[in-house]
Amino acid sequence: MSEIIHTFDEARACVERQAQRLRASGTETLFVLECLNRVLAEDIHADRDLPPFPRATRDGYALRAADIAQIPATLRLIGQVKAGSALSENIKLANGACVEIMTGAPVPPGADAVVMVEYTTASGDSVIISRTAIAGENIVPRGKEAIASQLVLSKGTRLKHAQVAVATSVGKSQVAVFKKPRVAILSTGDEIVDVASAPGHYQIRNSNSFSLAAQVIAAGAEPVQLPIAPDEPTRLRELIAEGLKSDLLLLSGGVSMGKYDLVEQVLRDFDSEFFFTGAKIQPGKPVVFGRTSTAEMAPLDTSTAGVPPAVLRASCPQRTGTYFLGLPGNPLSTMVTFTLFARPLIDALSGAQPAPLVFAKAALSEAFTTKPGLTRFLPAALSGPHSAPQVELIRWQGSGDVVSMSRANCLAVIPPDKESVAAGELISVLIQ
Ligand code: AMP
Ligand code: MG
Repeated sequence: MSEIIHTFDEARACVERQAQRLRASGTETLFVLECLNRVLAEDIHADRDLPPFPRATRDGYALRAADIAQIPATLRLIGQVKAGSALSENIKLANGACVEIMTGAPVPPGADAVVMVEYTTASGDSVIISRTAIAGENIVPRGKEAIASQLVLSKGTRLKHAQVAVATSVGKSQVAVFKKPRVAILSTGDEIVDVASAPGHYQIRNSNSFSLAAQVIAAGAEPVQLPIAPDEPTRLRELIAEGLKSDLLLLSGGVSMGKYDLVEQVLRDFDSEFFFTGAKIQPGKPVVFGRTSTAEMAPLDTSTAGVPPAVLRASCPQRTGTYFLGLPGNPLSTMVTFTLFARPLIDALSGAQPAPLVFAKAALSEAFTTKPGLTRFLPAALSGPHSAPQVELIRWQGSGDVVSMSRANCLAVIPPDKESVAAGELISVLIQ
């Protein structure tokens, strides 16, 4: 089998490129809060000017800036506007007048600034202003945030709390979103047992199906957990065929060089194209990414047994195939390779542009030495004040150490050309 080993950057670029070919499979309209973390299937426009009136941004006095060019200035108090009150007809600001105003209230005609209450002294019908203002100060003009019918959220945007705020600001209680993609999860390994059964002494509980399902849900997709596949080709093939009915197939385990690592070999039976069969990263080096040519080809179907894949492909040209990621089985490798490579595919299948990985810089707390050649994504804890973020590597027993990952809140990135990092040196961290 020919190996295609990419650097991290090449592998990530390859996944992003392939993701461009994927689309969401349909739309549905839901109550806005049910759309959290979903992707908009419609453009959303402002239904009116935002703000709909000139809005005071401070509690204080609405006035004419020209009237307080010389301070202190004494102005006539002619009324009050609070948030939500309609402007009274008789409030029209003339020379030397002011109106008491609250945050969020409409600024009356004639006024061009609001002076904060802290810089004023009121007594009876007059107010002494002790600070000058420039025209426009503490006022957001009508329509300054968006004018009526302006696009405020475009199709393909993922809805987080800030986007929910925009949608509801313009009156959208029902929103059209793309259907969630279904992501099949197949854990492999003779030693792997279900969480509900008592493991034998040399058996390992299946945590990967659950960590992956959790990551799939967090990515806004729907996990389809398949039964555990043994390290035996017939059943593995059956379960892979089942998984290929979903929009994306994630496999865990069986992609290393061991005698019983059969995943890549069985995937080849599906006439798969492999984009890479390894990446120069730690953890996660044996990660595999590819696509079947004909997902409907059932390799166990006796009617197609022995028929060359190319012939089968030609017989069902309507299918473009299903993408798969074979993730290494060590729990940290599984989680990290999902973070690095699965997300762009899920974004695209959800109707969104793939979100970039987000990195920040932080000072490494302790010196670190390693061998060059791999881009390392190590479990780490980011802390410290905003002026001096610090990152500490979590002590780990290698990529099988599931407990270490649970103490991390980011991945520290050590580039492939680095043999050592000094204490206090700035490194990149991947915010997950
Ligand atoms: P593999 O990638 O199949 O060589 O597995 C590497 C390591 O990960 C082995 O120690 C496996 O026991 C462990 N492992 C594989 N699959 C799982 C899983 N689903 N849950 C937890 N650990 C796993
Ligand atoms: Mg295995």
